Amino acid sequence: MEKIKMTTPLVEMDGDEMTRILWQQIKDELLLPFVDLNTEYYDLGLVKREETKDQITIDAANANKKYGVAVKCATITPNAQRVEEYNLSTMWKSPNGTIRSILDGTVFRAPIMVKGINPVVKNWQMPITIARHAYGDVYKDTEMRIPCKGKATLSFVSTTGDVQMNQTVYDFECPGVVQGLYNKDSSIKSFARSCFQYAIGTKQDLWFSTKDTISKKYDHTFKDIFAEIYETEYKEQFEALGLEYFYTLIDDAVARVIRSKGGFIWALKNYDGDVMSDMVSTAFGSLAMMTSVLVSPDGNYEYEAAHGTVTRHYYKYLKGEETSTNPVATIFAWTGALRKRGELDGLADLQAFADKLDAAVIETIESGVMTGDLVGLWEGDVPAQKVNSMDFLKAIRARLEEKLG
Ligand code: NAP
Ligand code: MG
Repeated sequence: MEKIKMTTPLVEMDGDEMTRILWQQIKDELLLPFVDLNTEYYDLGLVKREETKDQITIDAANANKKYGVAVKCATITPNAQRVEEYNLSTMWKSPNGTIRSILDGTVFRAPIMVKGINPVVKNWQMPITIARHAYGDVYKDTEMRIPCKGKATLSFVSTTGDVQMNQTVYDFECPGVVQGLYNKDSSIKSFARSCFQYAIGTKQDLWFSTKDTISKKYDHTFKDIFAEIYETEYKEQFEALGLEYFYTLIDDAVARVIRSKGGFIWALKNYDGDVMSDMVSTAFGSLAMMTSVLVSPDGNYEYEAAHGTVTRHYYKYLKGEETSTNPVATIFAWTGALRKRGELDGLADLQAFADKLDAAVIETIESGVMTGDLVGLWEGDVPAQKVNSMDFLKAIRARLEEKLG
């Protein structure tokens, strides 16, 4: 069989631990036999990041900007224990953080749904995609523990000195706490554009929610920026595609989301998105079935799994023990990236390959063959058959070969 050709390179970002092992197995079993893979390879494994003083991460992000589409393996974000384990010269920053700040992107997380693994919320029939604004707010806050009586104020002085604002936050009569948050119009605009762009790209409605009735300046600014960008830049396209942009208060949104059928994007501020993405992904089933894509406002895409490097399984693997790690989200990162590459380059057969591989994965699980993490969630008609990662990939390959004829 002739291999499917690619034109523009896909940026490939390798990673760490168990997912690095799966990465190679996925390529060997499911990609290389069928696709003439044209990737520009960047090794974001921690060893290479240390060796290059993290330059490799910056280079990979710039390549993502140059070519438009990347696929990334999970990577270790170093902490004190990792500094020791890998003998690091410094605690390198999270690669995802570095890439996100270079691309100025928003992360969209969506569950992969299969028949037999049912969401806790029984009326959810389609995926709910969460878009989290990953900038500012409580993650870049300034906080103080107030030790005694006294006044806390919020003040601003412009660089030129001619704008000055000063407000009392609270006149403390006893000890307490105080917190200062900020965000930037430019970042909120990028967030909004990434959301509208992704909604159009995936043909889904976009919901956005904040607490603008209580936060009349901070949250209201988010609401106003979204509304203005929608009106001036995206309304026509939305209407032409029959899509809806829907703003509502976050409490109302929570109630509507629970009662919905799914099938839309829910955009949230940083903290709300952090909390709601964990809630929604748990309610859909498993972190191992959650995909993630970083979308920049100017239309660059980076696909990955939402989970980490699955360290516990890797240590078992190193001891020669059999592991049943779920490769599904990593496979979907590859198919997401290949499909987008195919779309941008007009390669119908590459897009069709991605669709067939997705279908082969879903049908394999629906036939009862799955990794250990899914067995406990299984409610299908056939009995669940737990297999190791390699046998799971082989079962997918058999189905894929059938589909490719
Ligand atoms: P994790 O790798 O997501 O794993 C947490 C646990 O979730 C696993 O121990 C496993 O549970 C289960 N799990 C996750 N993915 C699975 C899969 N594909 N198949 C089967 N089970 C799966 O999170 P972590 O242990 O907190 O973090 C490990 C490393 O990953 C850290 O160094 C962290 O910095 C990094 N990380 C990277 C990213 C990223 O690159 N995007 C994201 C998050 C974390 P059981 O052990 O119970 O089987
Ligand atoms: Mg969280």
